[in-house]
Amino acid sequence: MGNKISCSYCGSTKVVRNGRTYYGKARGKCKSCHKQLVLERKNKSLTPEEKKRIALLLLERICLEGICRVLEITSYHVYQYRDELYEEIPSDLPAQVATTAQIDLQILECETDELWSFVHKKANKQWVALILRR
Ligand SMILES: [Zn+2]
Repeated sequence: MGNKISCSYCGSTKVVRNGRTYYGKARGKCKSCHKQLVLERKNKSLTPEEKKRIALLLLERICLEGICRVLEITSYHVYQYRDELYEEIPSDLPAQVATTAQIDLQILECETDELWSFVHKKANKQWVALILRR
């Protein structure tokens, strides 16, 4: 076991092997806080580098499952980090609505009428619509 493994509770790198879990994964024990931890965790938290890459891939509009495949990260972590990013977005984006826009509406008074008739046979029903401006 290298020194790269750090305790997920206190961050200490004084972690030693401590047998296996019921499921066969390597277990470690922190010499600093004396807590046991699973060394081969699949659900480890994201590193700052992984978060940066996820943010960049989201900006490139790569689909979430694609990000999971490329970075070999579980979808749970990608979705969780996406939600964190969304929460950072302000609810009131600084959009300005033009208040001086002029809308010219012309109200026309019209009269409509329609009629229909058969042409050559009953199956060929044709409509005619008439719109008269007053
Ligand atoms: Zn510890």
